[in-house]
Amino acid sequence: MENYSESHVLSEREKLSVLTGRNEPGADYPKDKYVYELFDSRGEDFRLKERSMASPKNRRLDLFSEKESKARYYVRHFPALFSRAKNEFLYDVSGNKYIDFLSGAGALNYGHNNPIIKKELIKYLRNDGIIHSLDKATEAKERFINEFCKTILAPRGYDHKIQFTGPTGTNAVEAALKLARMAKKRASVMAFTKGYHGNTLGALAVTANDYYKNDFFCMANGTVFMPYDQYLGPDVNTIGHLKKYLEDSGSGIALPAAVILETIQGEGGINVAGRKWLQDLSALCRDHDILLIIDDIQVGNGRTGTFFSFEDYGIVPDIVVVSKSIGGGLPFSFVLMKPELDVWKPGQHTGTFRGNNLAFVAGAAILRKYWRDGAFSDSIAKKSAYLKRSLEEIKGDHSGLGIQIRGKGLIYGLEFKDKAFAAAVSRKCFQKNLVVETCGTQDETLKILPPLTIGQDALEKGAGIIKNAVLEIKNGKKS
Ligand code: PMP
Repeated sequence: MENYSESHVLSEREKLSVLTGRNEPGADYPKDKYVYELFDSRGEDFRLKERSMASPKNRRLDLFSEKESKARYYVRHFPALFSRAKNEFLYDVSGNKYIDFLSGAGALNYGHNNPIIKKELIKYLRNDGIIHSLDKATEAKERFINEFCKTILAPRGYDHKIQFTGPTGTNAVEAALKLARMAKKRASVMAFTKGYHGNTLGALAVTANDYYKNDFFCMANGTVFMPYDQYLGPDVNTIGHLKKYLEDSGSGIALPAAVILETIQGEGGINVAGRKWLQDLSALCRDHDILLIIDDIQVGNGRTGTFFSFEDYGIVPDIVVVSKSIGGGLPFSFVLMKPELDVWKPGQHTGTFRGNNLAFVAGAAILRKYWRDGAFSDSIAKKSAYLKRSLEEIKGDHSGLGIQIRGKGLIYGLEFKDKAFAAAVSRKCFQKNLVVETCGTQDETLKILPPLTIGQDALEKGAGIIKNAVLEIKNGKKS
């Protein structure tokens, strides 16, 4: 039991963990093949600790610890040299097969190397289709816009316009914040506790977690944080707080141009906003002439079961930020805005890589295949029900661990009473060939994010690995 709780103060010996050998997900690693650093996820000075022993192939990881900046993150958590991937499986150079419950942090909802995307991309490249075009008109872009309007916007009755931004989520968030401020001619923006919106300075200003911040970054002011749903406990409707602050001229808070939020906070710990809370927030925004920006970067694209995470709640955001899976794993982001908000001057939020033509091709293929009818949503609902049941079984088996389950669709979080437990489970899972990360300000929540296209077999196997890992960590086996 005590091993896991020391994960941030491991001895030199404990920092070395033994793994590898050719094996399948679910099997334990044979010992003594490869020693690597068991890192501190907060990136303390563990440079050059990843070392290989037996296999020359594994020595190839040394390159990353020697030459890549300390900023590297996921490689510390999942120290393998990956080479191939197919749908829900990843393979490393030694031929080990892993089940992927991380899905590129939400960029691979449609799986790795989805055959539909692959086929279209190969065809496009064979034809010498345009790859780079700044924001000139291309056929690939034309097809994407037509498909998006026909398959996504029109059936939902949305008349939003599309702004293609730089390819990262955080760039699209920057654009959304700038636009809201310009449209409303107000400097302030309201954000929420535990929210995450990216790491460029404007997006960082509305991100709550201190870890990413630094006083020397000169982050834009003009952000005020308010309590998210449930932040003050299950019985407090925090919309009442917002209302009070907005309506009291003595609150010290200026009327914001916009509120920005995720409907489920992905990085912040899988905190799920309730239907009523979202509806109340939307009404409050309307009453006070504040724009509602939904950052659907992580939980859009079917992650919660519907294309947009908010579409079942009867709210229509003024601005929506879309990224991650919309490019089928290729970098691609855009902002949707109600037409009257489109106050940009030409090229005012310019950028060299606005509109990635390969991602347009991939995106159009995805929309055609998965979103023209309700079959994909139905399949997500079935997988979701299975995943939820298996997590509830784990909770039922271990009442002493104080487990909380939060989530929807195929994004679920398991929080344990002991804050260090989830990280230990994640490490144990990786030893058993399951890639699953943690989230929350203290990494206290195991974040379960399989591709939406995952097969039932792999879903069951992955859930089984988590179950065994929890048991083993509880029983005090070394992670
Ligand atoms: N917003 C949300 C909700 C996210 O989950 C992320 C990425 N985790 C971002 C913004 C930033 O996206 P990117 O990493 O592509 O800049």
